[in-house]
Amino acid sequence: MNKKTIKDLGDIKGKRIFVRADLNVPQNEKGKIMDDNRIRESLATLTYLLKKGARVILCSHLGRPKGKEEIWSLKPVAKRLQALLPHAPITPGVMVPLYKVIMAKDCIGPEVEAQVAKLKNGQILLLENIRFYKEETDNDPEFTKKLANLADIYVNDAFGTAHRAHASTEGIAHYLPAVAGLLMEKEIDILGKAIQNPKRPLVVIIGGKKIADKMPVIDNLLNLANTIIIGGGMTYTFIKAQGGNVGKSIVDDSKIDYCKGVIKAAKEKGVNLLLTVDTVAADKFANDANKKIVDIFNVPDGWEGLDIGPKTIERIKAALVGSGTIIWNGTLGVNEFENFIVGTREVAKAIGAATAKGAITIVGGGDSAAAVAHLKLTKKFTHISTGGGASLEMLEGKILPGVAALNNK
Ligand code: AMP
Repeated sequence: MNKKTIKDLGDIKGKRIFVRADLNVPQNEKGKIMDDNRIRESLATLTYLLKKGARVILCSHLGRPKGKEEIWSLKPVAKRLQALLPHAPITPGVMVPLYKVIMAKDCIGPEVEAQVAKLKNGQILLLENIRFYKEETDNDPEFTKKLANLADIYVNDAFGTAHRAHASTEGIAHYLPAVAGLLMEKEIDILGKAIQNPKRPLVVIIGGKKIADKMPVIDNLLNLANTIIIGGGMTYTFIKAQGGNVGKSIVDDSKIDYCKGVIKAAKEKGVNLLLTVDTVAADKFANDANKKIVDIFNVPDGWEGLDIGPKTIERIKAALVGSGTIIWNGTLGVNEFENFIVGTREVAKAIGAATAKGAITIVGGGDSAAAVAHLKLTKKFTHISTGGGASLEMLEGKILPGVAALNNK
């Protein structure tokens, strides 16, 4: 990465550092945090800065609030962050936090300014949900200046929102010295290398159901990958494009010509395009549906394919053997149903086996990362991205605005 990072900052003792992190954790309807991975992923940058005596003004969004709704307050995140930051014993058995987390009353305004003025070295002031202000997503310059006035230095560690040009992710970088955090650096380095200068062969597995979302990724990867494997709901449009009968499986008829084009382009470019050959068909869209394994070109009328079949799993496993880099985005079946997560699980395990044999293996966030966590296979991969949308945009070959705005090395 050619951008400056927090390691380039020099002496930061007493400096006010505005850190944009992605603390957008999933919560239940009562506001209980269901998965704190994003908070944990932010700890490296925060402890680095706190150890050096910086004063951290921490900022994130949470959900999609319509105004200042209490359910979207970052207060539970402040509590969890405090619990996760390092502690030390004062007397045997009594642990105290090394760094204090203070919850701000808002994210801009006189009260917040007063809280910042009182902030001591090695403390964090967590600003309230930045999306309580629509000026955030509007990248409003006046709002951005107010944020910038709180600090001396800006750090962007929010890879998960780096594809958005918002006030706290892009705008603010134009008013302060702006560098990347450690998570941002790791994400950009690993994903960037995997597409710009991959250890070959490069195998990409693309699943999920919304073909339109993945088209720019497929187009870009046709020029980069050695093998492209397509599974999940999008497969059926490719099969229909070749004259197959896919029953009532999910199909996007407006993309039939597009799929024909991809098949032709793969041939011309010498890319090994691996489509699904058999499917686990269900008689309804439910976990307890009756199911049978059928040839994907002959799904019976009234049945729909909800998972890849055993022949396809074997073909994918074979294609992964000897790969240098594997990038995976999108589940291979309806992973929300335990009876149709088999393909996703088997492929995840096969990718894990490739990691053990020296391949660089990357999961591109979103549904596939959630499925890997659910299957308890997280440790089997080289890298699980924290940003679904952001990693997709990198795979499309786009420059992320939140990264572009940072200072060059
Ligand atoms: P996407 O948002 O495009 O990445 O798609 C993710 C969703 O695709 C998940 O919620 C899966 O349940 C769904 N999915 C995967 N395979 C299928 C399939 N064969 N039929 C219907 N939905 C699927």
